[in-house]
Amino acid sequence: MSAFYREKVLSVHHWTDTLFSFTATRDSGFRFLNGQFAMIGLEIDGRPLMRAYSMASANHEEALEFFSIKVADGPLTSRLQKIKEGDTILVGRKATGTLIADNLIAGKRLLLLSTGTGLAPFASLIKDPDVYDRFESVVLVHGCRQVSELAYGEQLVAKLRDDELFGPLLADKLVYYPTVTREPFRNRGRITDLITSGQLFSDIGQPPLDIETDRIMMCGSPAMLEELRQLFEARGFLEGSHGEPGHFVIEKAFVER
Ligand SMILES: Cc1cc2nc3c(=O)[nH]c(=O)nc-3n(C[C@H](O)[C@H](O)[C@H](O)COP(=O)(O)OP(=O)(O)OC[C@H]3O[C@@H](n4cnc5c(N)ncnc54)[C@H](O)[C@@H]3O)c2cc1C
Repeated sequence: MSAFYREKVLSVHHWTDTLFSFTATRDSGFRFLNGQFAMIGLEIDGRPLMRAYSMASANHEEALEFFSIKVADGPLTSRLQKIKEGDTILVGRKATGTLIADNLIAGKRLLLLSTGTGLAPFASLIKDPDVYDRFESVVLVHGCRQVSELAYGEQLVAKLRDDELFGPLLADKLVYYPTVTREPFRNRGRITDLITSGQLFSDIGQPPLDIETDRIMMCGSPAMLEELRQLFEARGFLEGSHGEPGHFVIEKAFVER
């Protein structure tokens, strides 16, 4: 048995010159928990070229979806950004990752903090009915430099709100807070600053950060994650992991090479 499933690309959407998303067939044997990642890639000269990718689709969905960066000289994404409907991608058989609800102590409000393609695991999690059972409120924060980089998330949330099944479930529970750092927009600023100043909570009309009620998942650049970790640890929040749930969990959206 090969280490990879060979899946067919079903659709590709280019959002900006640095971001695209695509869907692919999903083998019925490929199981994952919402929020997890797997190795995906392309066969290049007969050899697999693989990178970690979060599933942006939920595990109840038939097709797989990924939200990807385009790195001009990136070994994988310089090629992956050219895929078309009908092309073959490789998907590793094993999914893993820390951004799963079981790694968090029970709470009332779930903060999903993301920058850039760090949105991907949360695209999966906000489609998980179990998340809305566990938490009274789910706040999805997505930070980008430019407004155009928010488009994938904006469309995702709009579609979910329109969905017959999810619409009513989300209506009172999901708060979506996109924020931009380098252009005028209704919400501006870095996630760390928005939390430290309390602006995020006053903007969404909810109570300030509270260790008794708040649980946090974060996915973004290594630098942003380090800042957030320090911010939360300074307030007594503990990091959770497999078998030892905590107040927050972290996944890198990429590693610096
Ligand atoms: C747990 C995990 C989950 C990941 N999930 C995703 C995902 O869902 N979508 C996705 O696009 N990437 C994701 N990545 C990053 C991905 O694995 C690759 O790094 C990315 O696809 C680029 O591959 P590459 O071979 O073209 O370039 P690489 O050689 O892998 O990267 C080159 C450089 O590009 C930059 N870079 C790489 N990925 C990103 C990114 N996503 N955002 C901003 N800068 C980046 C970094 O500076 C890196 O050093 C994830 C990484 C990890 C560790």
